Amino acid sequence: MDKSLENEYKDTIEALVGITKVMIDSVRDIKCKYCESRCIVRFGHYKGVQRYFCKACNHKFTLADTLPKGKVPIRQIADAIGMYYRGMSLNNISEHLEHEYGIPTTNASAYNWVIRYSKQAKDKAKEYIPKVGDVWIADETVLKIGGENIWFWDLIDAKTRFLLASHMSTTRTTKDAKELVEKAASRANKTPKVIITDKLAAYFDGIELAFGADTKHIAAKNLTSSPGTQLIERFHGTLKDRTNVMRGMKEIKTAQILLDGWLVHYNFFRPHDSLNGKTPAETAGVKFPYRNWEAVVRSNKLIIEIPEKDKYPPSKHYRICLAKRTSRHVRKARQKPLPLSLHMARKVY
Ligand SMILES: [Zn+2]
Repeated sequence: MDKSLENEYKDTIEALVGITKVMIDSVRDIKCKYCESRCIVRFGHYKGVQRYFCKACNHKFTLADTLPKGKVPIRQIADAIGMYYRGMSLNNISEHLEHEYGIPTTNASAYNWVIRYSKQAKDKAKEYIPKVGDVWIADETVLKIGGENIWFWDLIDAKTRFLLASHMSTTRTTKDAKELVEKAASRANKTPKVIITDKLAAYFDGIELAFGADTKHIAAKNLTSSPGTQLIERFHGTLKDRTNVMRGMKEIKTAQILLDGWLVHYNFFRPHDSLNGKTPAETAGVKFPYRNWEAVVRSNKLIIEIPEKDKYPPSKHYRICLAKRTSRHVRKARQKPLPLSLHMARKVY
């Protein structure tokens, strides 16, 4: 090529080379969903969707954004959990999902997703200790579930809004109050300087028994005239969503899981206006690996451990699937027509 011409088109050529490289990479970037090997071949279509076969682990998969063995898109599962913790009923959730994704969803499967991923998120959240302040607020509310009065106890950090503990009981005794504050202390890995509560007698002994004289207990006479009023009011506001969540639960056995799941939702995924759009966990300096429910579900990719050397098994097709073919055997057209008898034979078979 002429030197001046080459210079003139240099940018264009470079751009084209760049685009081609990106295209090749994106094609090659298809990884096996099970073992992350790149040694895969196309494996026909099913209902119009391209399928692939992995030569390292012998699994078939599609590129749809589902968990390896699942059929439901990850986004759909995550949406269901998010809606549940925002207080939507299971009926509304499955209706909404069917409308949005065109896949029929039952109430039971939505509920199962909530339970399963709440457990997982709760276990992960346990590993992170929030840096909370020295003033904590405790309160309790009652909900009628299955004809029984259930008390929900909550303890929140005033500075970061981090919900340190939730406790469920059928009674309002010293033991319950003690359990709540002890749970919170072990979650925060510290004891507070001040705890603000209402006048409930159970707190007086409960806090005394748990922390002794280290912690000052303020029992607010009237919630509308005490210094912690605003905080307590906001606290009730944020817990209002949960009432719907807990009403929607099916049995008392799963209640604790939902309570813990809501705690994760509230602390880690829900931004607060009063915290400048941050979550309580961010304010408390926690670096949680999941940003939302979608990340929790996505982390469940079932990965089969395959040694690096076996990720590309030797096979005669191996070169075809990764490297460009170097030679091509081109069949030449026959010069002479076949003998008549052979023509006939071909036609028969
Ligand atoms: Zn594989």
